[in-house]
Amino acid sequence: MRVTYKLTIVLVLAMSAVLLTYAWLSVRSEVDLIESDMQRDAGVLGGALGGIVRQVWLDQGEAAAIALVDGLPSDPAIALRWVRPGATDALHAPRHPDRLAGLAPGSPIVVLDRDAGPDGTHTSYIPVLVADDALWALEVTESLASEREVVLGTIRRVAFTTFALVAVFGVVALVAGARVVGRPAQALVEMARRVGQGDLTWRLAQGPRDELGDLAREMNAMADRLVAARARIEAETAAREAAIDQLRQADRLVTVGKLAAGVAHELGTPLNVVQGRARLIAAGGLTAAEVAENAGIIAHQAERMGVIIRQLLDYGRRRSAHKAPHDVRALARRTTEMLSELARRRKVELRVPEDRTPLTMAVDGGQLEQVLTNLVVNAIHASPEGGVVDVEVAPATRPDRPGVELVELAVTDRGVGIPEEDVPRLYEPFFTTKAVGEGVGLGLPVTHGIVTDHGGWIEVESAVGRGSTFRVLLPRQGGPAERRDEAGPA
Ligand code: ADP
Repeated sequence: MRVTYKLTIVLVLAMSAVLLTYAWLSVRSEVDLIESDMQRDAGVLGGALGGIVRQVWLDQGEAAAIALVDGLPSDPAIALRWVRPGATDALHAPRHPDRLAGLAPGSPIVVLDRDAGPDGTHTSYIPVLVADDALWALEVTESLASEREVVLGTIRRVAFTTFALVAVFGVVALVAGARVVGRPAQALVEMARRVGQGDLTWRLAQGPRDELGDLAREMNAMADRLVAARARIEAETAAREAAIDQLRQADRLVTVGKLAAGVAHELGTPLNVVQGRARLIAAGGLTAAEVAENAGIIAHQAERMGVIIRQLLDYGRRRSAHKAPHDVRALARRTTEMLSELARRRKVELRVPEDRTPLTMAVDGGQLEQVLTNLVVNAIHASPEGGVVDVEVAPATRPDRPGVELVELAVTDRGVGIPEEDVPRLYEPFFTTKAVGEGVGLGLPVTHGIVTDHGGWIEVESAVGRGSTFRVLLPRQGGPAERRDEAGPA
């Protein structure tokens, strides 16, 4: 319900309550006034008549006195009777015998009987001691019609006034309320809605100096402050982006420097070997078998340099991902099986996912195979003889990404583990702890790049001497839902 309606109802109710209280008090005082008038009239009348009757009683006897009173003219508005407490004859029995017990000279008794007749009666008993042992009373009965009329008149007057005031006040309060409260409040609501939607251009008209006017001014000031804050944030964001760009540029230079150093280092050794062996052959004097052996060494070193250059190309000119729906469980199984020969040679048990339920999502199949190959080769290299490497693929979620469906590819080994200080360097190009010929330190940087291109990330859990788990988390991005593979194993 609108505030204006509520205020109007409260005002009208309060006004009606005041008017009704006023009416009740007026009626009370008018009734009191009428009744005290009646009582006074009866007292004056009784005092005068009582004296006459007493005198007639004393002078001419009881019968003459009674005859005098009984002969008094009767009026429908005021009835006079001569009564005796305790009398039972119709002529002199009081109307209210039970109320006269305390009648005594000088103490009149008043009886209000609202049920008598159509309007009720007001009866006064004025005691008259006609002889020492004869206490009579003059009974003066008046109708309460006039009193009822006055009360009804007051009620009609007050009812009309209440109705008229309620109607006039109600209409005035509704109209004024709509102007003073309704319209400004609606404008405030509109302003709040627009600010909530991000529109900070809207301003309220300067209202009067009241609470709603103050609120409107405050809302305008708040919008001004929000505009200033937004401008500040935009400026700060631009400055931060510029700083990040500069940092990226600097980072790129550092990376290029490291790459150059890494390339020089990695290619330096095989080049030296190639050079040395070639010179040896060129100098002549070698047997045919020695020439063949040195040529073999040169070929091996050239092969090694080729691998390094291919990995460098992978890292430097990674092509963008060409995604298509793939069952990543089947893909993980295939990749793992391809590495089983390496695992067998190193006497490591490679366990592939048992669950063959297809888990389909859009990925670049070749790139994901490369990711898994890097992780599994690292895990095999890190494992001791007789070690076990587990590859698992499963749907996953993360509390910091609510509502994002993920797929987790986890590779776990029970090998050497990674010292804490090495973990931040894992994705640096050429960071490697492996023996020459076993690794160049480009596997994880390439893996990291591919996973990032797929919108995912890598989590590493490792303890020195106990092993490591590399988890690749990829968002499914609304790919086809998981379903049972009715065609059987892939
Ligand atoms: P590379 O395998 O050629 O050394 P990577 O980038 O794949 O290059 O790995 C970098 C280094 O990270 C490795 O040399 C090794 O020190 C560490 N590493 C990676 N995976 C593991 C693992 N599963 N267990 C222990 N160390 C690991």
